[in-house]
Amino acid sequence: MLKDQDRIFTNLYGMHDRTLKGAKARGHWDGTAKILQNGRDWIIEQMKASGLRGRGGAGFPTGLKWSFMPKESDGRPAYLVVNADESEPGTCKDREIMRHDPHTLIEGCLIASFAMNAHACFIYIRGEYIREREALQAAIDEAYEAGLIGKNACKSGWDFDLYLHHGAGAYICGEETALLESLEGKKGMPRMKPPFPAMAGVYGCPTTVNNVESIAVVPTILRRGPEWFAGFGRPNNTGTKIYAISGHVNNPCVVEDAMSISFEELIDKHCGGIRGGWDNLKAVIPGGSSVPCVRGEKMKDAVMDFDALREVGSSLGTAAVIVMDKDTDIIKAIWRLSKFYKHESCGQCTPCREGTGWMMRVMDRLVRGEAEVEEIDMLFDVTKQVEGHTICALGDAAAWPIQGLIRNFRDEIEDRIKAQKTGRVSAVAAE
Ligand code: SF4
Repeated sequence: MLKDQDRIFTNLYGMHDRTLKGAKARGHWDGTAKILQNGRDWIIEQMKASGLRGRGGAGFPTGLKWSFMPKESDGRPAYLVVNADESEPGTCKDREIMRHDPHTLIEGCLIASFAMNAHACFIYIRGEYIREREALQAAIDEAYEAGLIGKNACKSGWDFDLYLHHGAGAYICGEETALLESLEGKKGMPRMKPPFPAMAGVYGCPTTVNNVESIAVVPTILRRGPEWFAGFGRPNNTGTKIYAISGHVNNPCVVEDAMSISFEELIDKHCGGIRGGWDNLKAVIPGGSSVPCVRGEKMKDAVMDFDALREVGSSLGTAAVIVMDKDTDIIKAIWRLSKFYKHESCGQCTPCREGTGWMMRVMDRLVRGEAEVEEIDMLFDVTKQVEGHTICALGDAAAWPIQGLIRNFRDEIEDRIKAQKTGRVSAVAAE
């Protein structure tokens, strides 16, 4: 288990002072100007050496992403955009940073922007996060007043402006290019890639979009050294990570621990175990609602990192762990996700617009068992036609939970169809 002195977020639960005074007392904003003096290349090299992979779900190496930004400006300004949209069902980690430890993020924004030659950074925060916005804005104001950001930030000679932009509550605006569209005042519809944001992002200028946690860990990594950060987790899966565990555990929580912690340890140490004991575990969605579920017995020995969860047919995603015990109607649970993705599709491309509705309607019948067994394969086939054939990843996000259900719980779906046909009520879902 991660020792207290190795935690980056020391006020995750809001038990201490979240103001600048409190943040400084906990070691933030310490020697920031000195870090900047080391230069852009040094910062990017340190980030690469730390092995940090993006915490927003895709797990792309952060230092490498930063290195894609143009070294010299062609006259256009560069921007950092922080994705604080956090709308994936089950995911609730960035909000704890923003409302309880906001200075970690603000300091990270300054350093990361400097490393990418950006004098301005936008934080795009989810529409529903009202209190979080207030806390973060208060911290931004404090940082301006103290001269930590603004003209000559931290007396480093670097001018830096930080803007907090409040979204209107659309899930799709968490997709990076839809987010940029929304930031520009347009409808949140994903853009075709290429061009990638590093070439043409917000206002057509070079832009990097990073997740809140990815940016908030930067100052501590640079202060303590990349070796320290890389010392946690397995190779290629390094660092500390914030996990958000919900569902049928005894104490659902958000907690920072080492990457590659075993699922069993995570649940036993931090959540007081599975409700009703380990034998009662049915399924786990390990990385937010868009990743496939995994059967409980397979998950027990799994390790919580990018590579290991791919091996069990799922993904670390945002490390939002949704635990389901044997009381769960898993078909209904996945149907609910299908309904969500259907609702949030922006409608721009046909496989997603039509496919999400089609899949949801079949799922609707599967919940009640009112289907033919052959339709299970047909549904799987449709998910394959949606997956990878859309502009953005929402199509995949709608397809994967259903694929996970069919791969892992086909017997249950079949059983319900048969039960419905024979009038055996016990296997039919409750309304
Ligand atoms: Fe819109 Fe769906 Fe296409 Fe993404 S995949 S652009 S959400 S229609």
